[in-house]
Amino acid sequence: MKSDKKSDTVIVKSTCRMDHGGCGALVHVKEGKVVKIEGNPEHPISKGWMCIKGLSSAYHLYHPDRLGFPMKRAGERGEGKWERIGWDEALDTIADKMNKVREKYGPEAIAVGVGTDRNNMSQLYRLANIIGTPNYFSEGHVCYVPKVRTLEITAGGHFDAGWFPRMYYPYDVMPECLLSWGSQASFTSDDSPHPCAVGFRGAAQKVKKLIVVDPRFTWEASKAHLWLKVRPGADAALALGMLNVIINEELYDKGFVEKWTNGFEQLKERVQEYPPEKAAEITWVSAEKIIEAARMYATSKTAILHPGVAIEQLVSTTQTIRALLCMIGITGNFDIPGGNVVCDRTVKGTTSYLELHDRLSPEMAKKRLTSDQFKLITSGFWPMIPAIALNSILTGKPYPLRVLFYSGYNPMVCAANTKKVYEALKKVEFMAISELYMTPTAELADIVLPAAMWLEKDEIHLNQCDWGYGIRQKTVGQIDERRSDWWIYSELGKRMGESDPSDVEGYIAESLKPAGITFDDMREKGFVSLPHSFKYKKYEKVGFSTPSKKFELYSNVMESLGYDPLPHHLEPPESPISSPELAKEFPLVLTTGGRVKGFFHSEFRQIKNLRKLNPDPFIEIHPDTAGDLGIGDGDWVWIESPRGRVQQRAKFTTGLDPRVVHAQHNWWFPEDKEAEPSLHGVWKSNINVLTDWVEADEAMSCNPLRSLLCKVYKVE
Ligand code: SF4
Repeated sequence: MKSDKKSDTVIVKSTCRMDHGGCGALVHVKEGKVVKIEGNPEHPISKGWMCIKGLSSAYHLYHPDRLGFPMKRAGERGEGKWERIGWDEALDTIADKMNKVREKYGPEAIAVGVGTDRNNMSQLYRLANIIGTPNYFSEGHVCYVPKVRTLEITAGGHFDAGWFPRMYYPYDVMPECLLSWGSQASFTSDDSPHPCAVGFRGAAQKVKKLIVVDPRFTWEASKAHLWLKVRPGADAALALGMLNVIINEELYDKGFVEKWTNGFEQLKERVQEYPPEKAAEITWVSAEKIIEAARMYATSKTAILHPGVAIEQLVSTTQTIRALLCMIGITGNFDIPGGNVVCDRTVKGTTSYLELHDRLSPEMAKKRLTSDQFKLITSGFWPMIPAIALNSILTGKPYPLRVLFYSGYNPMVCAANTKKVYEALKKVEFMAISELYMTPTAELADIVLPAAMWLEKDEIHLNQCDWGYGIRQKTVGQIDERRSDWWIYSELGKRMGESDPSDVEGYIAESLKPAGITFDDMREKGFVSLPHSFKYKKYEKVGFSTPSKKFELYSNVMESLGYDPLPHHLEPPESPISSPELAKEFPLVLTTGGRVKGFFHSEFRQIKNLRKLNPDPFIEIHPDTAGDLGIGDGDWVWIESPRGRVQQRAKFTTGLDPRVVHAQHNWWFPEDKEAEPSLHGVWKSNINVLTDWVEADEAMSCNPLRSLLCKVYKVE
């Protein structure tokens, strides 16, 4: 902390958490108020850079719509009537309800869930384990977990491992080739452990060869030497087409393949099903481009593959990621300088003990709602699937959940099939939520708790992998009665009569124990860099931690779980190829979920300067397609799928295939009426009214949010 006596301003060094990242921040505080936020130039990764979201944090801190006090429902669910209550009444009511349900139906009738991790996921899982329920979940099945889990079974590694290009670190090696696959890492700090937006931007402009796979002409595509405009949902076919070229032209690393992989011959046989011409038919990328990309990637001395979240929202997610891993493996780009590496000091990996999984008995773990499905994701400590939780409320099968405790989670906007989410939330016996604002989901709760944001709490930025730790510091005095999520969970556990060895301070101390440092050690700098003695090719000493001790091109784990051990392409359930009849009525391929500058999924639409960047929801459409449909640039249009229709404004772009449209995701309107039927305009433009949870990746339960069919027509 630095003090500028002249201006009476104190500068607190902290770590931003307006998204997943962790950019170093200098928070200027005058008379107890945040007056300015800027990047911390000393921060080893972000080096003074912050994006517009981070720089707008003070507007979020002081926003008049932020929740300030606990409230209980005073009318019917969804009627928008609330009564302010004290923390004791709020927490005792939730604890009492949970205890009664636990006694009568067993702890498994309670589920706790979190949306995107805001450094509260592990703590919420800890609460679940303490109160004895196996039913805890996040949206991890469509974000981050599939990549990590697939890496685990293919090449070993743990948690924050393997995928993350260390080139973003100042001390690492730039690859010759960067292959960005379904990622807009330049926009935001994505689901990696690093604040990588700034690193990615630098790298994209420095590497000799940048290949971008994306259906849209993104910033990344604009910088690319080669842009592959893949049909949404056809990524596995593209990867297999590239593998066909790499293998048949013998562009792979023979030494690595021979010594360190299994199943090469089987993979070779499998990729014969995907010659470039066939892959071109499936992917809508020309055979020439597929060949060029394969050669460019495989003949580079070093190459990094940076995958985004898009490939985790397909019915073929597992096989897509397996195909990409095979590409990294056979080209010898695994765990080498300038390649995809495994972190040897994984902060999150070393702190999973904090989740206290040993408090849950194996018998109770077996009662987890998804324990017999989607076996790749539900084995081990991976959480259950939120749609399954909601389905159990709707159907009572295999048993009904009776209490939901959500924390920073807005499934009415962010989860697939809004109508079904709504029905489940209306039906559940009791729901409580800790939130920053009233959201369409919070409007359906019985109790709402006001949560603190990153400037209002002491916290460790646990997601920093490898280079060190960041901290967040409580920068301002108490605002209303907002509390940190960690405090809320700890209080709930206690009020349910359970013992927890740690309160918030204790939890922080426990987390830092392995590094031998304390929170106070970091207050001055806002972070600590740990000495790095990174070792590459760790497998040479210990092999890969897979059943065969090899990099598994042929996955023994997949085979043992009853899934295809070799990668293959699977058509999206709705596509011009898999459902040509449906495509007659819904002729356009709809993809969703591209990053929107200034927003983080469903967040920040109430912050004026960020909303100004995106006042209305936009659907991107090719002008030729729009012309045929009589749609003008900026017109409001209906987007309709078999599940419903919503409105967005047409935005012309030639950067899309004319057969594809891209709609912005997670729209709601905080300014709209809160009571039903509006629920802050949740039915108006929210693209998840059109998506579904029924079809899912068989191993990981990922929903096809990125590839469905729709029709588009002008709002008259
Ligand atoms: S990229 Fe993320 S962590 Fe960095 S400033 Fe923006 S919101 Fe904050």
